[in-house]
Amino acid sequence: MSDENQELPVFTTAADMRAWVRKQKKSGRKVALVPTMGYLHDGHLSLVKAALERADVVVASIYVNPTQFAAHEDFDVYPRNPADDRAKLKAAGAHAVFEPESLYVAVPGAGEGSNVVGRETQHPDSHETYVTVERLQKPLCGGSRPHFFRGVCTVVTKLFHICEPDVAVFGRKDYQQWRVISRMVRDLDLAVEVVGLPICREADGLAMSSRNARLSDEARQKALCISRGLKWAEAGVADGSVTSPEAVKEHVRGLIEEAGGKVDYVELLNADNLGAISDLASQPTLLAVAAHFAAKDRGTVRLIDNTVLTAPAAAAAAN
Ligand code: AMP
Repeated sequence: MSDENQELPVFTTAADMRAWVRKQKKSGRKVALVPTMGYLHDGHLSLVKAALERADVVVASIYVNPTQFAAHEDFDVYPRNPADDRAKLKAAGAHAVFEPESLYVAVPGAGEGSNVVGRETQHPDSHETYVTVERLQKPLCGGSRPHFFRGVCTVVTKLFHICEPDVAVFGRKDYQQWRVISRMVRDLDLAVEVVGLPICREADGLAMSSRNARLSDEARQKALCISRGLKWAEAGVADGSVTSPEAVKEHVRGLIEEAGGKVDYVELLNADNLGAISDLASQPTLLAVAAHFAAKDRGTVRLIDNTVLTAPAAAAAAN
C-alpha cells in the first residue's frame, strides 16, 4: 500500500470516506483509525505509527469538533494547519485522511462553529442526537467542561460509523477520554478495538499538545511545573516515601500555583474505573492535572497531563 510518490487520499465527505474504507475491507485489509483535531505533533504521529503495527491501512481524521467546545472556550482560536498535517501524515505512512468540513447537519444560515455548545441554532432540522457515558464523564475534565464528553462520544461514534475501523488508536494524554471511549464501545457493542498509548513528551518533559503552540514563551517554561510535579509523585509513591493522597495533591497544586498557573483540578482516582480512592496502596492511581497558563494571543491555555502512580503494595498486588 505504501508508495512514496502516491498522493495521500484526502476525503471530505462521509460517503467518499466510507466507500474507500469499504473497498479496503473488501480486499481483506484491516483498518485502523486515528482521530485527531489536527495541528499534528509527534504525539499524534506516534499513534499513527502504532496504528500501522496493528492494521493494514491507517486512516487519520482531522476535525475540530464543535460539540465538545463551549461558547467561552477556544474553538475559534484552536490552531489549524491542514496542509502541514497532510504532509506529516503522508511521511508517517498513513493511507488516507478524513477531513470533513462539518460532521453535523448543515442548517440554513448556520456558519462554522454553529454546533459549539451555547451557540447552536434553534433550527428544527439541526443536530439533536448525542451519546453520553453517564458516570465516567463526570469527574476531572467533565467537572469544568460538562459538555465535553458528550461531544467527544458523539463525534467518535460518528467517526466509527463512517470509517468502520477494526481498531481505533487514542493517546493516554487524554486518559479520561480513552477510558470513556473504551466504556462506550463496550456498552454499545461497537465492533472496534480501542487502544490507548503512552504520552509523548518534549525533551524538557512538557506533554506534547496542539495547544502548546498558543502558550507564551514564559508560560511554556512555567508549565513545566506540571510534568515536574507528576514525576515527583511517581518517584515518591513508587519508592514508598510518599503515601498520603492529600500530600500528593497539595504538593502538585502548590508547584502549579507557585509558577503562576491557575489550577482547574489536581485529582487522584482509581486508574481503572476513575472511582474515588482512599489510599495509594490499594490500586494503581491516576494523578490527573488540568491547569491554565497565559496564552500569547488572548486569555489562557488549558493544559492537561497525567500519570499513573503505583505504590509498592499496589505493584505487588498486580503481580
Ligand atoms: P487531539 O488532536 O488533541 O484531539 O488528540 C488526538 C489524539 O492524539 C488523542 O487520542 C490524544 O490523546 C492523542 N494525543 C495528543 N497528545 C498526545 C501526546 N502528547 N502523546 C500521545 N498521544 C497524544
